Amino acid sequence: MDVNTVSLADKTQNPVIQEMFQMGHEQVVFCHDDATGLKAIIGIHNTTLGPALGGTRMWTYDNELQAINDVLRLSRGMTYKNAVSGLNLGGGKAVIIGDSRTMKNEALMRRFGKFVDSLSGKYITAEDVGMTTQDMEFISNETKHVVGIPKELGGAGDPSPVTAYGVYLGMKAAAKAAYGSDDLGGKKITVQGAGNVGRYLIDHLMKENAQVSIADIFDDKIKLVTDKHSSVNVIDSDKVYENDMDIYAPCALGATVNDESLKKLNCSVIAGAANNQLADEKKHGVAVKESGIIYAPDYVINAGGVINCYSELEGYNRDRAMNKCETIYDTTTRIFELANEQNIPTYEAANKIAEQRIEQIGKIKMTR
Ligand code: NAD
Repeated sequence: MDVNTVSLADKTQNPVIQEMFQMGHEQVVFCHDDATGLKAIIGIHNTTLGPALGGTRMWTYDNELQAINDVLRLSRGMTYKNAVSGLNLGGGKAVIIGDSRTMKNEALMRRFGKFVDSLSGKYITAEDVGMTTQDMEFISNETKHVVGIPKELGGAGDPSPVTAYGVYLGMKAAAKAAYGSDDLGGKKITVQGAGNVGRYLIDHLMKENAQVSIADIFDDKIKLVTDKHSSVNVIDSDKVYENDMDIYAPCALGATVNDESLKKLNCSVIAGAANNQLADEKKHGVAVKESGIIYAPDYVINAGGVINCYSELEGYNRDRAMNKCETIYDTTTRIFELANEQNIPTYEAANKIAEQRIEQIGKIKMTR
């Protein structure tokens, strides 16, 4: 191709690069391979605390800009999540554009693994939406910078049960802040998304005799839950926000706390697994506070998965991972206390704690 025919230079500013600069990303890698049909983007947000660790999401985005937006937001979220969780990890994330139900195969995953390997450990991948331990196994053929590989191969396996446990504990801490008791018995809880994390979260909630409603866009996911827990109430996935509930648990995709949903949501607590629940962090973080809803910051309470992955890097020990995961209750409580003391939204309190750690540890790393 004659580069002179490419008229990118005629454009004044590239919105993607502008966004990357504004959000403070170190590196964004666009990956493309004709032979396998791979289209992926790896976002490395900040490596002050260590290599950037965050899962890969495979999703059918409507367009490339949506995918870029997702990877930029998700990778930044990982920086904060890893920092607030006390891990020596930076923040990164990847997205593969495509339908995980129909487009996945060994070659696609291994080609993606090669791109991860080309970053020489600056980015470590794991599972996210649409990915499985089997995919991590394929990726591990091409790079050692992958976690969440099957237990039989010496990995920690699917991090979702640990994530769900952390979400459950974070939800209890939020219930304590809202109701004065962390007992979830009898609480009406709506779980949006009965996937890997949602399913395990529902197990904890049912054990505690909560009144659980669930919604998913796929019937087979619902069936997995109702076969096990016949008393859960199944609702339409487009009727989630108006459902009668005390606690809303977003466990599907992000940005569900937005102008539209807030008009309908009538709950005391928002606590779930999904990343980037606030469509606009500042606007909706403030709106939630003003509505009197206790919002348990997503990246704080869904950190169980990355805690599990971190433990895999150190040589996996399930008890150590679960013990570390249990700190999520106290961390969430500390965030609510700081938010109360300073009269700020809870997302802001969480960000402050994360930024403080990055700054302090960053300074130590600079000293010789
Ligand atoms: P998953 O793909 O297994 O589950 C997501 C579920 O949401 C699927 O069953 C899907 O059908 C459903 N869904 C999608 N859109 C929906 C809608 N509009 N309404 C209702 N249901 C819908 O993914 P997962 O691993 O369970 O992750 C769930 C969320 O938690 C994601 O946002 C992910 O980024 C986040 N998270 C996951 C982990 C982990 O360990 N898996 C860790 C941290 C954060």
